[in-house]
Amino acid sequence: MTNPSAAKIMDGTALAEKLLAATAGSAAEFHSQTGRSPCLAAVLVGEDPASMTYVKMKRVRCQAAGVDSRLIQLPTGSTTAQVVGEVRRLSDDSNVDGILLQHPVPSHVDERSAFEAIVPDKDVDGVTTSSFAAMSLGLPGFVSCTPAGILRLLDEYAVDPSGTHAVVIGRSPILGRPVGMLLLGRDATVTFCHSKTRDLATVVRTGDIVVAAVGQPNLVRGSWLKAGAVVIDAGYYQGGVGDVNFDEALPIVSLITPVPGGVEPMTIAVLLKQTVTAAEQRELASSC
Ligand code: NAP
Repeated sequence: MTNPSAAKIMDGTALAEKLLAATAGSAAEFHSQTGRSPCLAAVLVGEDPASMTYVKMKRVRCQAAGVDSRLIQLPTGSTTAQVVGEVRRLSDDSNVDGILLQHPVPSHVDERSAFEAIVPDKDVDGVTTSSFAAMSLGLPGFVSCTPAGILRLLDEYAVDPSGTHAVVIGRSPILGRPVGMLLLGRDATVTFCHSKTRDLATVVRTGDIVVAAVGQPNLVRGSWLKAGAVVIDAGYYQGGVGDVNFDEALPIVSLITPVPGGVEPMTIAVLLKQTVTAAEQRELASSC
């Protein structure tokens, strides 16, 4: 007998595997045409254990997909000028197709300045102002990876945002804001919530789609959710806990992403896909 609750769970791991297989195919074709593999360079500043784990995971995924990876590790005490200098060097390096600056950088480093040192045609993580503007206006460019992964998951489960009320909790430049803009681009009516939002539970209860992007374990309770809501939990806390109380939410929602295995595998899948696209576009531009 099938478990009806299982049918509500959005399997990001399975979808990411599918995307990674397609990306591996594109990377192999790129290699056969150019004699080289697409190359992603990651910059890691400091020794934050979660960031080190993410970077390691990304390297493993790169290898599996036939994408070369380079890791530039800078000491915790690096200045903004040093980080910006390193990112600029990678922007100028013709052997590098995509650049990832691992977020967050130590608080004394101006992360925005470091992001802006990435040239747009290598901004495969979609973090620069110009990528954000292009994405928000629906113009070509690289999109922010986690938000793009979320939209891809919604598509996979035939959730059409058009006409729905989407409530996004969180407004960070890498997650809350861009996912809200992508949902708006798909004709959702979008409400952004943040730390100053009053009576968060009441606002969340109006959401047909709820995206939690906060980083506070189990913040969203089952009683906060509208019956049949689609819930995307982008939060990730030590030990694999999300922003949504999964057990409380499951009986109420129509679909929900688990943590882990929901949103986070999609981020890397989109990152690698965009790295191969960057390599293809740069190759095409250089042959013109
Ligand atoms: P962030 O920069 O710290 O932003 C958190 C956002 O949550 C802020 O906009 C903040 O509001 C808001 N917030 C904080 N407390 C709140 C509360 N009590 N009620 C409502 N809003 C509140 O974090 P982030 O980088 O966006 O990451 C958010 C979460 O997503 C983290 O758990 C992170 O690990 C996870 N994440 C996952 C992936 C993935 O691949 N799955 C990728 C990136 C991040 P203010 O703006 O008012 O401060």
